[in-house]
Amino acid sequence: MSVYTDLGLKQVINASGKMTALGGSAVAAEVAEAMARAARDYVSMEDLFRKAGQKVATLIGAEAACITSGAAAGIAISIAACIAGRDLALIERLPDSGGLRNEVLLPKGHSVNFGAPLTQVIRLGGGRPVEVGQVNEVKGAHLQGAVSDRTAALLYVKSHHTVQKGIIPLEEMVRIGKEKGIPVVVDAAAEEDLRKYLDLGADLVIYSGGKAIEGPTSGFICGRKDLIEACQMQYRGVGRAMKIGKEGILGLLAALDRYLNRDRLQDAADQRKRMEWLIAGLQDIPHLEAGLTQDEAGREIYRAQIRIDEKGLGLTAKEVIKLLEGGDPAIYTRNHFVNLGIISIDPRPLLPGQEAVVLRRLHEIFAEATPPCNPRSCG
Ligand SMILES: *Cc1c(COP(=O)(O)O)cnc(C)c1O
Repeated sequence: MSVYTDLGLKQVINASGKMTALGGSAVAAEVAEAMARAARDYVSMEDLFRKAGQKVATLIGAEAACITSGAAAGIAISIAACIAGRDLALIERLPDSGGLRNEVLLPKGHSVNFGAPLTQVIRLGGGRPVEVGQVNEVKGAHLQGAVSDRTAALLYVKSHHTVQKGIIPLEEMVRIGKEKGIPVVVDAAAEEDLRKYLDLGADLVIYSGGKAIEGPTSGFICGRKDLIEACQMQYRGVGRAMKIGKEGILGLLAALDRYLNRDRLQDAADQRKRMEWLIAGLQDIPHLEAGLTQDEAGREIYRAQIRIDEKGLGLTAKEVIKLLEGGDPAIYTRNHFVNLGIISIDPRPLLPGQEAVVLRRLHEIFAEATPPCNPRSCG
């Protein structure tokens, strides 16, 4: 049973991936314990922010880091820092940045919506978003041509949400940023590699604590010491509306520690075994073909892929998804290939034993739908 059923809500089984809409991550026991201990005590928040930032920086090998309530807050705070710096009068004036260097240049194909528009989050930090180039083509020349004495930052988004081809490589944006003396900010919210973008020369890099790291709702900005100090100071301004509590900070630290020390291959092998068990249990269902597939981006993720013979079954994959989501517990699957009649089960967010619930529910749905066993068509 789920704690959320006490509120009269349905239990949710997440077989789709890290979804903010489904509550982000279900944290590990030791992360939850760190949060509970933090919640029951007092601390100087200013000192906690400083120490936690140093700890994150040490763990990932960055110059400095600033804790945030999420990646979206990290973007707004980074942009505010690039505009107002450490000047308290300017910090208190944002997001009104009239007359200041406030333009934030980003490749047009990176102007995404991750649940809210990226451009709005830039504005929240006082930035004026300027989309450069075309959706599917952004060259160095486009960026060079857009840089002016009004440019406060260059923003790069590393994500599956963005257009992947035809866009200026980060290395080239970094080169232009260095040449013009403009900071390069990278939104790497859901990325797994916590070093790569700093190594490529980005000035600030933003991560979500609740995605790859599997922590609570939280995040951090890492990078250049002077800019990180400016980020921290934005909590006296726009950052105040995005504050994170002590329990979120300690949860993030515990999750980060766990993430950096995890055994990736063992985790992948365990997840693979569970999906193989699920697939074996689906073999005798007519009008369904189940197999194991590796993540299309080549990551060590093995999902159960269920291909539905929509004509034979008399139900489309979309309708099967609706039945899964409409049941109790509600089961959410990964539906990137639904138009091909394919539903995927992602093992990463499944809690222990939940693959058995998914299996049982699929048997039910297919038993009710399959024409030979349907009273109307059998009778
Ligand atoms: C999820 C996401 C965000 C927002 O992250 P939060 O931690 O939920 O605020 C920002 N940018 C990208 C590319 C994302 O995928």
